[in-house]
This record gives sequence, structure tokens and C-alpha cells, in this order.
Amino acid sequence: MKDQITAKTVLILGLGGLGSPVAMYLAAAGVGHLVLVDFDQVDLSNLQRQIIHSKVGEYKVNSARNTVQKINPNIKVTIYNKHVDEIFLQTIINNIDVVVDCSDNFTTRFVINSICVRNNIPLVSGAALRWSGQVAVFLPKNSPCYRCLYDDAEEQVETCSEAGILAPLVGIVGSIQAIEVIKILLNMGKTLCGKLLLFDAYQNHWRSIKLPKDLDCPVCSSNR
Ligand SMILES: [Zn+2]
Repeated sequence: MKDQITAKTVLILGLGGLGSPVAMYLAAAGVGHLVLVDFDQVDLSNLQRQIIHSKVGEYKVNSARNTVQKINPNIKVTIYNKHVDEIFLQTIINNIDVVVDCSDNFTTRFVINSICVRNNIPLVSGAALRWSGQVAVFLPKNSPCYRCLYDDAEEQVETCSEAGILAPLVGIVGSIQAIEVIKILLNMGKTLCGKLLLFDAYQNHWRSIKLPKDLDCPVCSSNR
């Protein structure tokens, strides 16, 4: 019965604006085991978009677990109140069916990507800032990886708390991430693998661009 959604395990990294809808929808959809990771505590400025939380000062993993267990008391929830680093991630990656990157910085995203490539685990990546959102799916073996898309010399972009964000935008991006996770878990539909979906909320404009595999990618290329 491993093909049923109730038998699947999804790792959600980051329980902010994106992680909120991802965790809530996957819990409601009946994903059997959610593994939630975040080091942070809820700040008043988070509440406008991080809808899984309601109490300032609470650890986000505790707050998120309480909310998803209210939505679906039948699922298993494991929490880690930790920063994401390579050594820690490697210790919890066993038996994960899909990883969802809901983090907010390049350093963490590169670590998550490397672990997923090394362990052949599908990765659903999302990002949102100001009026813009994006989603990409990276599958093991033949697809490009996140590192094919961005150079590690990439300038560190501002975070939502610095640059601001339109609150419902993270709901849109996170919901699309949840859709992609469910398709991968159930092996249904056409995923965003090999594409980057971009949403400009200011113009209400959607587009997707093809992501080529970087044959010299230091993470996923067999030429490395
Ligand atoms: Zn790559």
C-alpha cells in the first residue's frame, strides 16, 4: 500500500509563508507523515502571511504541528527545531518521498539541493518576494537541479522581512508547491520538472521557462 498518499512521507523545510500552506494542504490531503523543520520563533510581523501560526513567541515547529494536527489528527507529524545544514539533513533524509524547500535564502537552498541529488529524492522548490513568485520541480536522474539554475556566487537576495511581500502571494506559491508534491507522490499528471514557473502578481502574469541541465553542474553533472 506504499502507493497510497497515507503511506507517504514529506519533508518540509521552513515553516514561514510558503511552508504554512504547504503543510496545511498536505495534512488536509492526508499525506501520512509530515516532517517539519524550522529553527525560528513566531514574530508579530510573520502573522500577516504565515497563516499556520497564531501565537507570537511560539516555536514555529510547535505551532505548525498543532495546526496541522487540528486539520488532520490521523497523520503523523515529526518536528525538528533546527537550522538546516548538510550533516543534519543527511541524518533525517531516509524514507523521505519528497522534499519541499520553503526556505528563504540561497545558502540553505543549495544545501537542500545537494542532499536531494545525492539521495535521489524529488525536490519541490518555491520562492516569493515582493510581487513575484516562482516554483520549480527537480526530479532525480535526468532533470536539471537547483544548482543548474543558480550559480553559488549568486548575490544573496533580500529576505521577505527586509524587502516585503504581498501576503497572499505566498499562499499561491505554496499551494502550487503542494499540488506538485501530490502529483509526484501519486505519480499523476505532468509536473513542473524541467521548467521554472514564474508569477508576477503586480501584472497578474504567469509564464514558465525551460530549465536546461548544466552539463558542467558541480552537483548533478556526471562530468563533474
Ligand atoms: Zn545541476
